[in-house]
Amino acid sequence: MINMSEFADKLLAWYKANRRILPWREDPTPYHVWISEIMLQQTRVEAVREYYKRFLISLPDIASLAAAPEDVYLKLWEGLGYYSRIRNLHKAAQVVMEEYGGELPGDAEDLIKLPGIGRYTSSAIASIAFGRKIPAVDGNLLRIFARLCAYEESIKTPAAIKEASDYYLSLMPQETPDVVSMRTERAENLCGDFNQALMDLGTAVCLPGTRPACDQCPVSDFCRLHREKPGQEMTLPVIPAHKERKTETLTVFLIRNGEKTAVRKRPSKGLLAGLYEFPNAKGTLEQDDAVRWLKKHGVQPLRIHKLCSAVHVFTHKEWHMTGYEVRIDPFDGDTDGFIMAYPEEIREKYCIPSAFSAYLQCLDP
Ligand code: SF4
Repeated sequence: MINMSEFADKLLAWYKANRRILPWREDPTPYHVWISEIMLQQTRVEAVREYYKRFLISLPDIASLAAAPEDVYLKLWEGLGYYSRIRNLHKAAQVVMEEYGGELPGDAEDLIKLPGIGRYTSSAIASIAFGRKIPAVDGNLLRIFARLCAYEESIKTPAAIKEASDYYLSLMPQETPDVVSMRTERAENLCGDFNQALMDLGTAVCLPGTRPACDQCPVSDFCRLHREKPGQEMTLPVIPAHKERKTETLTVFLIRNGEKTAVRKRPSKGLLAGLYEFPNAKGTLEQDDAVRWLKKHGVQPLRIHKLCSAVHVFTHKEWHMTGYEVRIDPFDGDTDGFIMAYPEEIREKYCIPSAFSAYLQCLDP
Protein backbone atom coordinates (compact mmCIF):
# COMPACT_ATOMS: atom_id res chain seq x y z
CA MET A 1 0.00 0.00 0.00
CA ILE A 2 1.42 3.36 -1.04
CA ASN A 3 1.92 6.00 1.61
CA MET A 4 0.54 8.88 -0.43
CA SER A 5 2.22 11.77 1.26
CA GLU A 6 5.56 9.92 1.30
CA PHE A 7 5.42 9.51 -2.47
CA ALA A 8 4.76 13.26 -2.98
CA ASP A 9 7.36 14.24 -0.37
CA LYS A 10 10.11 12.16 -2.00
CA LEU A 11 9.20 13.34 -5.49
CA LEU A 12 9.04 17.01 -4.50
CA ALA A 13 12.32 16.85 -2.57
CA TRP A 14 13.99 15.33 -5.63
CA TYR A 15 12.46 18.06 -7.81
CA LYS A 16 13.74 20.80 -5.56
CA ALA A 17 17.28 19.50 -5.94
CA ASN A 18 17.16 18.45 -9.60
CA ARG A 19 14.61 20.62 -11.40
CA ARG A 20 15.51 21.89 -14.84
CA ILE A 21 16.03 25.63 -15.01
CA LEU A 22 13.77 26.77 -17.82
CA PRO A 23 12.88 30.35 -18.76
CA TRP A 24 9.11 29.82 -18.36
CA ARG A 25 9.57 28.34 -14.90
CA GLU A 26 11.28 31.44 -13.54
CA ASP A 27 8.20 33.64 -13.86
CA PRO A 28 5.25 31.26 -14.34
CA THR A 29 2.48 33.75 -15.11
CA PRO A 30 -0.57 32.22 -16.79
CA TYR A 31 0.48 33.75 -20.14
CA HIS A 32 4.05 32.44 -19.86
CA VAL A 33 2.90 28.94 -18.92
CA TRP A 34 0.34 28.92 -21.72
CA ILE A 35 2.83 30.02 -24.42
CA SER A 36 5.47 27.55 -23.23
CA GLU A 37 3.04 24.62 -23.05
CA ILE A 38 1.82 25.26 -26.60
CA MET A 39 5.37 25.63 -27.91
CA LEU A 40 6.45 22.43 -26.14
CA GLN A 41 3.77 20.32 -27.83
CA GLN A 42 5.66 17.95 -30.16
CA THR A 43 8.81 20.06 -29.74
CA ARG A 44 11.98 19.58 -27.70
CA VAL A 45 12.74 21.90 -24.78
CA GLU A 46 16.06 22.99 -26.30
CA ALA A 47 14.37 24.00 -29.55
CA VAL A 48 11.76 26.04 -27.66
CA ARG A 49 14.04 28.15 -25.42
CA GLU A 50 15.01 30.81 -27.99
CA TYR A 51 11.60 30.89 -29.66
CA TYR A 52 9.99 31.47 -26.29
CA LYS A 53 12.25 34.42 -25.45
CA ARG A 54 11.85 36.01 -28.88
CA PHE A 55 8.09 35.53 -28.82
CA LEU A 56 7.70 37.28 -25.47
CA ILE A 57 9.86 40.21 -26.55
CA SER A 58 7.54 40.84 -29.53
CA LEU A 59 4.24 39.80 -27.93
CA PRO A 60 4.64 40.23 -24.15
CA ASP A 61 1.02 39.73 -23.14
CA ILE A 62 -2.36 38.41 -24.19
CA ALA A 63 -3.49 41.80 -25.54
CA SER A 64 -0.49 42.12 -27.88
CA LEU A 65 -0.92 38.54 -29.12
CA ALA A 66 -4.62 39.10 -29.79
CA ALA A 67 -3.85 42.26 -31.80
CA ALA A 68 -0.86 40.86 -33.76
CA PRO A 69 -1.14 40.64 -37.57
CA GLU A 70 -0.93 37.17 -39.17
CA ASP A 71 2.46 37.68 -40.80
CA VAL A 72 3.96 38.81 -37.47
CA TYR A 73 2.85 35.86 -35.37
CA LEU A 74 3.58 33.34 -38.14
CA LYS A 75 7.09 34.74 -38.55
CA LEU A 76 7.71 34.35 -34.81
CA TRP A 77 6.72 30.69 -35.17
CA GLU A 78 8.78 30.04 -38.32
CA GLY A 79 10.68 26.75 -37.98
CA LEU A 80 8.76 25.49 -34.93
CA GLY A 81 6.31 23.60 -37.15
CA TYR A 82 2.70 22.57 -36.42
CA TYR A 83 1.50 26.03 -37.36
CA SER A 84 -2.08 25.36 -36.30
CA ARG A 85 -0.70 25.89 -32.77
CA ILE A 86 0.08 29.56 -33.34
CA ARG A 87 -3.15 30.15 -35.25
CA ASN A 88 -5.11 28.69 -32.34
CA LEU A 89 -3.06 30.68 -29.82
CA HIS A 90 -3.96 33.85 -31.65
CA LYS A 91 -7.66 32.92 -31.84
CA ALA A 92 -7.68 31.94 -28.17
CA ALA A 93 -6.04 35.25 -27.17
CA GLN A 94 -8.87 37.08 -28.94
CA VAL A 95 -11.45 34.95 -27.08
CA VAL A 96 -9.71 35.70 -23.75
CA MET A 97 -9.78 39.43 -24.52
CA GLU A 98 -13.46 39.35 -25.45
CA GLU A 99 -14.86 36.87 -22.94
CA TYR A 100 -12.50 36.96 -19.95
CA GLY A 101 -11.41 40.61 -19.88
CA GLY A 102 -7.87 39.70 -20.95
CA GLU A 103 -7.21 37.28 -18.04
CA LEU A 104 -6.69 33.58 -18.75
CA PRO A 105 -9.25 31.54 -16.74
CA GLY A 106 -7.79 29.31 -14.01
CA ASP A 107 -10.06 26.26 -14.22
CA ALA A 108 -9.21 23.41 -16.56
CA GLU A 109 -12.88 23.17 -17.66
CA ASP A 110 -12.76 26.77 -18.92
CA LEU A 111 -9.28 26.50 -20.41
CA ILE A 112 -10.17 23.43 -22.45
CA LYS A 113 -12.87 25.39 -24.28
CA LEU A 114 -10.25 27.73 -25.77
CA PRO A 115 -8.90 26.98 -29.28
CA GLY A 116 -5.80 24.78 -29.26
CA ILE A 117 -6.05 23.79 -25.58
CA GLY A 118 -6.69 20.10 -25.00
CA ARG A 119 -6.93 17.86 -21.97
CA TYR A 120 -3.22 17.81 -21.15
CA THR A 121 -2.56 21.52 -21.78
CA SER A 122 -5.58 22.69 -19.76
CA SER A 123 -4.41 20.59 -16.81
CA ALA A 124 -0.81 21.78 -17.13
CA ILE A 125 -1.83 25.47 -17.16
CA ALA A 126 -4.37 25.02 -14.34
CA SER A 127 -1.82 23.31 -12.09
CA ILE A 128 1.41 25.15 -12.96
CA ALA A 129 0.00 28.67 -13.32
CA PHE A 130 -2.95 28.50 -10.89
CA GLY A 131 -2.00 25.75 -8.41
CA ARG A 132 -5.04 23.58 -9.16
CA LYS A 133 -4.99 19.94 -8.06
CA ILE A 134 -5.17 18.23 -11.43
CA PRO A 135 -2.68 15.80 -12.98
CA ALA A 136 -1.24 16.84 -16.37
CA VAL A 137 -0.95 13.44 -17.99
CA ASP A 138 1.35 13.53 -21.01
CA GLY A 139 3.58 10.83 -22.52
CA ASN A 140 6.08 11.09 -19.66
CA LEU A 141 3.46 10.66 -16.97
CA LEU A 142 1.86 7.76 -18.83
CA ARG A 143 5.19 5.95 -19.14
CA ILE A 144 6.00 6.46 -15.46
CA PHE A 145 2.48 5.36 -14.46
CA ALA A 146 2.79 2.18 -16.56
CA ARG A 147 6.04 1.28 -14.77
CA LEU A 148 4.97 2.31 -11.28
CA CYS A 149 1.80 0.22 -11.57
CA ALA A 150 3.10 -2.51 -13.94
CA TYR A 151 0.27 -1.55 -16.29
CA GLU A 152 0.33 -4.04 -19.14
CA GLU A 153 -2.35 -2.58 -21.42
CA SER A 154 -1.68 -0.05 -24.17
CA ILE A 155 -1.14 3.45 -22.75
CA LYS A 156 -2.58 5.05 -25.90
CA THR A 157 -6.20 4.68 -24.86
CA PRO A 158 -8.65 6.96 -23.01
CA ALA A 159 -8.96 4.22 -20.34
CA ALA A 160 -5.21 4.30 -19.66
CA ILE A 161 -5.20 8.10 -19.45
CA LYS A 162 -8.11 7.98 -16.99
CA GLU A 163 -6.37 5.34 -14.84
CA ALA A 164 -3.13 7.30 -14.83
CA SER A 165 -4.96 10.50 -13.98
CA ASP A 166 -6.86 8.88 -11.08
CA TYR A 167 -3.66 7.31 -9.82
CA TYR A 168 -1.73 10.58 -9.77
CA LEU A 169 -4.68 12.47 -8.31
CA SER A 170 -4.63 10.09 -5.34
CA LEU A 171 -0.95 10.95 -4.77
CA MET A 172 -1.05 14.71 -5.36
CA PRO A 173 -0.54 17.12 -2.47
CA GLN A 174 -3.21 19.61 -1.46
CA GLU A 175 -4.02 22.60 -3.64
CA THR A 176 -2.28 25.83 -2.65
CA PRO A 177 -4.93 28.55 -2.59
CA ASP A 178 -4.41 31.69 -4.69
CA VAL A 179 -1.11 30.79 -6.29
CA VAL A 180 -1.57 33.58 -8.82
CA SER A 181 -2.20 36.41 -6.36
CA MET A 182 0.56 35.19 -4.01
CA ARG A 183 3.17 34.79 -6.72
CA THR A 184 5.15 37.85 -5.70
CA GLU A 185 5.71 36.27 -2.29
CA ARG A 186 6.99 33.12 -4.03
CA ALA A 187 4.14 30.96 -2.80
CA GLU A 188 4.80 27.25 -3.03
CA ASN A 189 2.76 25.59 -5.73
CA LEU A 190 2.83 21.95 -4.72
CA CYS A 191 0.39 20.68 -7.36
CA GLY A 192 2.21 22.47 -10.19
CA ASP A 193 5.54 21.22 -8.85
CA PHE A 194 4.19 17.67 -8.57
CA ASN A 195 3.33 17.62 -12.29
CA GLN A 196 6.60 19.27 -13.29
CA ALA A 197 8.56 16.87 -11.09
CA LEU A 198 7.03 13.93 -12.95
CA MET A 199 7.80 15.60 -16.30
CA ASP A 200 11.44 16.05 -15.23
CA LEU A 201 11.60 12.52 -13.87
CA GLY A 202 10.44 11.29 -17.29
CA THR A 203 13.14 13.23 -19.14
CA ALA A 204 16.04 12.53 -16.75
CA VAL A 205 15.42 9.23 -14.94
CA CYS A 206 12.46 7.15 -16.10
CA LEU A 207 13.55 7.43 -19.71
CA PRO A 208 11.84 6.26 -22.88
CA GLY A 209 13.62 3.95 -25.33
CA THR A 210 16.50 3.14 -23.01
CA ARG A 211 17.03 1.59 -19.60
CA PRO A 212 15.66 3.92 -16.90
CA ALA A 213 18.04 5.06 -14.17
CA CYS A 214 16.12 3.33 -11.37
CA ASP A 215 19.06 3.67 -8.96
CA GLN A 216 18.51 7.46 -9.11
CA CYS A 217 14.74 7.35 -8.92
CA PRO A 218 13.18 9.07 -5.89
CA VAL A 219 10.06 6.89 -6.07
CA SER A 220 11.66 3.51 -6.81
CA ASP A 221 10.27 2.16 -3.51
CA PHE A 222 6.78 2.64 -4.93
CA CYS A 223 7.51 1.11 -8.34
CA ARG A 224 5.89 -2.28 -8.88
CA LEU A 225 7.72 -3.07 -12.11
CA HIS A 226 11.09 -2.30 -10.53
CA ARG A 227 10.21 -4.46 -7.54
CA GLU A 228 8.80 -7.40 -9.50
CA LYS A 229 11.03 -7.40 -12.57
CA PRO A 230 14.24 -5.55 -11.74
CA GLY A 231 16.29 -4.87 -14.86
CA GLN A 232 13.24 -5.28 -17.11
CA GLU A 233 11.71 -1.84 -16.59
CA MET A 234 12.06 -1.12 -20.32
CA THR A 235 9.43 -3.74 -21.18
CA LEU A 236 6.72 -1.22 -20.31
CA PRO A 237 4.84 0.80 -21.37
CA VAL A 238 2.93 -1.01 -24.10
CA ILE A 239 2.73 1.32 -27.11
CA PRO A 240 0.91 0.18 -30.25
CA ALA A 241 2.93 0.38 -33.50
CA HIS A 242 2.65 3.60 -35.53
CA LYS A 243 0.66 3.60 -38.73
CA GLU A 244 2.89 4.02 -41.77
CA ARG A 245 3.22 7.58 -43.02
CA LYS A 246 1.93 8.50 -46.46
CA THR A 247 4.63 9.60 -48.92
CA GLU A 248 4.05 12.51 -51.31
CA THR A 249 6.48 13.62 -54.01
CA LEU A 250 7.01 17.26 -54.92
CA THR A 251 9.13 19.25 -57.34
CA VAL A 252 10.29 22.56 -55.85
CA PHE A 253 11.40 25.49 -58.00
CA LEU A 254 13.80 28.25 -57.06
CA ILE A 255 12.76 30.67 -59.79
CA ARG A 256 15.43 33.35 -59.83
CA ASN A 257 15.91 36.68 -61.51
CA GLY A 258 19.20 38.27 -60.47
CA GLU A 259 19.25 38.09 -56.67
CA LYS A 260 15.50 37.77 -56.35
CA THR A 261 13.67 34.46 -55.92
CA ALA A 262 9.96 33.68 -56.27
CA VAL A 263 7.87 32.80 -53.22
CA ARG A 264 4.13 32.47 -52.94
CA LYS A 265 1.57 32.23 -50.16
CA ARG A 266 0.00 28.83 -49.52
CA PRO A 267 -3.80 28.48 -49.39
CA SER A 268 -5.52 29.63 -46.20
CA LYS A 269 -6.69 26.10 -45.37
CA GLY A 270 -4.88 22.76 -45.04
CA LEU A 271 -1.28 21.80 -44.32
CA LEU A 272 0.99 24.82 -43.60
CA ALA A 273 -1.95 27.14 -44.31
CA GLY A 274 -1.12 30.77 -45.01
CA LEU A 275 2.65 30.29 -44.89
CA TYR A 276 4.97 31.07 -47.79
CA GLU A 277 6.70 28.53 -50.01
CA PHE A 278 8.82 28.19 -53.08
CA PRO A 279 6.56 27.38 -56.06
CA ASN A 280 6.21 23.63 -56.41
CA ALA A 281 4.39 20.96 -58.37
CA LYS A 282 3.07 17.57 -57.37
CA GLY A 283 5.20 14.61 -58.44
CA THR A 284 8.85 14.16 -59.35
CA LEU A 285 9.17 16.01 -62.64
CA GLU A 286 11.91 15.29 -65.16
CA GLN A 287 13.43 18.41 -66.68
CA ASP A 288 11.14 18.51 -69.77
CA ASP A 289 8.03 18.20 -67.62
CA ALA A 290 9.41 20.80 -65.23
CA VAL A 291 9.85 23.27 -68.09
CA ARG A 292 6.29 22.55 -69.30
CA TRP A 293 4.96 23.17 -65.79
CA LEU A 294 6.84 26.47 -65.56
CA LYS A 295 5.55 27.70 -68.93
CA LYS A 296 2.02 26.77 -67.96
CA HIS A 297 2.47 29.06 -64.95
CA GLY A 298 3.74 31.98 -67.02
CA VAL A 299 7.47 31.44 -66.40
CA GLN A 300 9.89 31.38 -69.38
CA PRO A 301 13.06 29.62 -68.21
CA LEU A 302 16.39 30.79 -69.62
CA ARG A 303 18.38 28.10 -67.79
CA ILE A 304 17.39 25.28 -65.51
CA HIS A 305 19.46 22.93 -63.42
CA LYS A 306 18.77 20.32 -60.82
CA LEU A 307 19.20 20.97 -57.09
CA CYS A 308 19.49 18.53 -54.22
CA SER A 309 16.71 16.19 -53.19
CA ALA A 310 15.22 16.58 -49.72
CA VAL A 311 12.84 14.75 -47.39
CA HIS A 312 10.64 16.37 -44.78
CA VAL A 313 8.75 14.27 -42.26
CA PHE A 314 5.42 15.50 -40.88
CA THR A 315 3.45 13.53 -38.30
CA HIS A 316 1.28 11.72 -40.84
CA LYS A 317 3.11 12.15 -44.12
CA GLU A 318 6.50 12.61 -45.71
CA TRP A 319 7.42 14.93 -48.54
CA HIS A 320 10.10 13.61 -50.89
CA MET A 321 11.26 16.62 -52.87
CA THR A 322 13.28 17.21 -56.01
CA GLY A 323 14.45 20.73 -56.78
CA TYR A 324 15.34 22.89 -59.78
CA GLU A 325 16.93 26.29 -59.95
CA VAL A 326 15.41 28.22 -62.81
CA ARG A 327 16.89 31.42 -64.21
CA ILE A 328 14.38 33.72 -65.86
CA ASP A 329 14.05 37.11 -67.54
CA PRO A 330 12.63 39.79 -65.29
CA PHE A 331 8.88 39.62 -64.84
CA ASP A 332 6.60 41.84 -62.87
CA GLY A 333 6.11 39.37 -60.07
CA ASP A 334 2.37 38.84 -60.18
CA THR A 335 2.52 35.68 -62.29
CA ASP A 336 0.47 33.02 -60.57
CA GLY A 337 0.77 34.81 -57.23
CA PHE A 338 4.58 34.68 -57.26
CA ILE A 339 6.36 37.38 -55.24
CA MET A 340 9.94 38.13 -56.29
CA ALA A 341 11.96 38.80 -53.12
CA TYR A 342 15.57 39.28 -52.03
CA PRO A 343 17.07 36.54 -49.79
CA GLU A 344 17.01 38.92 -46.75
CA GLU A 345 13.32 39.60 -47.31
CA ILE A 346 12.57 35.89 -47.62
CA ARG A 347 14.34 35.26 -44.32
CA GLU A 348 13.03 38.25 -42.40
CA LYS A 349 9.57 38.94 -43.78
CA TYR A 350 8.08 35.74 -45.18
CA CYS A 351 7.42 32.72 -43.01
CA ILE A 352 8.87 29.75 -44.91
CA PRO A 353 8.21 26.42 -43.13
CA SER A 354 11.19 24.21 -42.37
CA ALA A 355 9.93 21.68 -44.93
CA PHE A 356 11.66 23.95 -47.48
CA SER A 357 14.82 24.57 -45.47
CA ALA A 358 17.05 22.56 -47.86
CA TYR A 359 16.04 24.95 -50.65
CA LEU A 360 16.20 28.03 -48.44
CA GLN A 361 19.88 27.21 -47.93
CA CYS A 362 20.39 27.29 -51.71
CA LEU A 363 19.70 31.05 -51.62
CA ASP A 364 23.09 31.59 -49.98
CA PRO A 365 25.77 32.63 -52.45
S1 SF4 B 1 12.01 2.77 -10.43
FE1 SF4 B 1 12.72 2.86 -12.52
S2 SF4 B 1 11.01 2.20 -13.77
FE2 SF4 B 1 10.22 2.66 -11.73
S3 SF4 B 1 9.49 4.79 -11.89
FE3 SF4 B 1 11.60 4.85 -11.11
S4 SF4 B 1 12.87 5.05 -12.95
FE4 SF4 B 1 10.86 4.42 -13.63
